Amino acid sequence: MAEFKQIIGHEQIIQHMQNAIRQKKISHAYLLCGESGSGKRLVAEAFAKAVLCEEGGIEACGKCKSCKQAESGNHPDIRVVVREKATLGVKEIREQVTADVQIKPYSSEYKIYLIDEAEKMTEEAQNALLKTIEEPPEYAVFLLMVDRQELLLSTVLSRCVLLPFYPVATGKIKQFLMEEKGVPDYLAESAAAFSGGLVGRAVQYTESEAFTEQREEVLHLVKYVDQMTMAEVMENVKLFASKKDAATEYLDMILLWYRDVLMYKATKDINALMFANEPEAVADQAKKRSFENLQGIVEALEQVKQRLKSNVNFETALELLLLYMKED
Ligand SMILES: [Zn+2]
Repeated sequence: MAEFKQIIGHEQIIQHMQNAIRQKKISHAYLLCGESGSGKRLVAEAFAKAVLCEEGGIEACGKCKSCKQAESGNHPDIRVVVREKATLGVKEIREQVTADVQIKPYSSEYKIYLIDEAEKMTEEAQNALLKTIEEPPEYAVFLLMVDRQELLLSTVLSRCVLLPFYPVATGKIKQFLMEEKGVPDYLAESAAAFSGGLVGRAVQYTESEAFTEQREEVLHLVKYVDQMTMAEVMENVKLFASKKDAATEYLDMILLWYRDVLMYKATKDINALMFANEPEAVADQAKKRSFENLQGIVEALEQVKQRLKSNVNFETALELLLLYMKED
């Protein structure tokens, strides 16, 4: 289980939690709300660990019995609600929460319930939970995690302290990937750029072979497109089209490349590049291409992305894009 100090971003949420611990004003129900991969579970675990730590500080000590139990996932006062089916029904909530909460904590002042993907609770289950969070025992703390708050009943929402998770700055993610995960510079750069501010997703990218491959393919295309024959360009069209699931990611990556070229052309600033390990190729393209051409590429890319969504004339739009990329 993570500790607060190991978490990247979400400073305000952590501060709120630490203030609550310091002032002994821990609420009975919190709603951690944010996209999958945003770090809700990590923060919830760090909070539980800190609240239960025997040292009584605002950060888990990592050494006491409670911290050790939390670390091994065997803390008797941290209850992780288990979902075995697609939804979490009233039976599970009754067994794992409403009945269980009547039993006092084993070794701590609090008993903390973690409910991941709380939106999977059926309406009946939510109503059962609601009864408990309306009149909870003194020691009970509920940490509900959801992708979007509107997926829960408003009656449940109104009982929770809402903690919204926002995207983390890509610079921070990059630094974290390099310093803590030992990820090389260029990969950290693009994984952070593509993560949309979700640290979990960025980590996933760095561990994914497909992501690295994709980056190489995009680089090959953008660097050598003007040396390719029309037949080769067409082959690329087919390659992209065949990977439709990943096509949006490809297109976003190509977009980032041309944004780099545009930015460099305008500012000559090498430090702001997303493709940080390709400064020469970026500079070379910036020299060759006109602003009009680069603008045309960016617009064509947006069009291809739209066509991809609507599934109409996708290949035609992609062809047009590659033709733009071929002229300079
Ligand atoms: Zn401790």
